[in-house]
Amino acid sequence: MIPGKFEYHVPADVGQAAALLRHYDGEAKILAGGQSLIPMMRFRLAQPEHLIDLSKVPGLSYIEERDGHLAIGALTTESELEHNATIRDRYPILKDATDVIADPLVRNLATVGGNIAHADPANDHPAVLLALRADVVATGVDGHRVIPIDEFFLDTFVTGLEPDEILTEIRIPTAKSGTGSAYLKLERKVGDYAIGAVAVSMVVRDGVIAEAGVAMTNVSPYPVRAVQTEAALVGRPATAATFAAAAETASQECEPSGDNRGPEEYKRAVIRTLAERAFSLAAERAN
Ligand SMILES: Cc1cc2nc3c(=O)[nH]c(=O)nc-3n(C[C@H](O)[C@H](O)[C@H](O)COP(=O)(O)OP(=O)(O)OC[C@H]3O[C@@H](n4cnc5c(N)ncnc54)[C@H](O)[C@@H]3O)c2cc1C
Repeated sequence: MIPGKFEYHVPADVGQAAALLRHYDGEAKILAGGQSLIPMMRFRLAQPEHLIDLSKVPGLSYIEERDGHLAIGALTTESELEHNATIRDRYPILKDATDVIADPLVRNLATVGGNIAHADPANDHPAVLLALRADVVATGVDGHRVIPIDEFFLDTFVTGLEPDEILTEIRIPTAKSGTGSAYLKLERKVGDYAIGAVAVSMVVRDGVIAEAGVAMTNVSPYPVRAVQTEAALVGRPATAATFAAAAETASQECEPSGDNRGPEEYKRAVIRTLAERAFSLAAERAN
């Protein structure tokens, strides 16, 4: 289908983009890679009166380590993440995720900022950023603010961004020594959204799990950290027995609903298996 009528704006910088958002007061939407928004507009699930295209806004696409975190500009594409050496060597969970997002054509356009601003529980980056305890930088006409990722996803397709705010940066704490992370996803076919997926980041010291962040994809109404599963890992030895027990907790803690990707029980079983493998892979990488 063809999208409904809209006015198209191309601001030259973030300030202009934020001013347009404020001016159109809830009637405008940011356009980044368009890989989620345009399909929704074609199906008339979204009918914004104004589109504010960020593609000519400079300085929003970068991946750099500074001041104790990895900073990723909101307009950084999936392919840029996929081929970045720092990501590959030091943040393997991000590489795991980008590798299984859609297909190369989509990854050339889709942005990381758009992936989380869309707040689709089926998208892959929310769980990864929850497990990594990232922060999100929001910019509006009045300046910046930092939103902890735990406060960012409020409901299905709903975030903590104000209607006149733009997501400009994602900050991930620099990986400490002894950190291992992994993201494992099961999909019906290559390029599809997850039947289920598990993201984990853990710090292992002297064979014991000192810290853990766990979140799951497409098995809850909106992205949220799996706190019971984290508690089943922290303070315990990084062994197969711990991982099996924590994976069982994950399968109980998730809230899948039956759909064309399978019934609830099947999804719980998928999560159990993926979680056990992801915990084990993260511990191996921590070494
Ligand atoms: C065929 C296909 C397969 C896909 N498979 C997957 C998959 O397996 N896993 C997965 O995670 N995703 C998948 N996607 C979805 C897509 O990859 C993501 O949702 C995409 O990354 C969104 O980013 P975008 O830049 O295209 O955002 P857009 O579509 O431009 O925007 C999405 C939403 O976020 C808002 N937005 C975007 N950027 C900002 C910003 N900087 N500040 C504030 N609001 C903003 C927009 O207003 C809009 O509401 C798939 C998409 C397609 C078309």
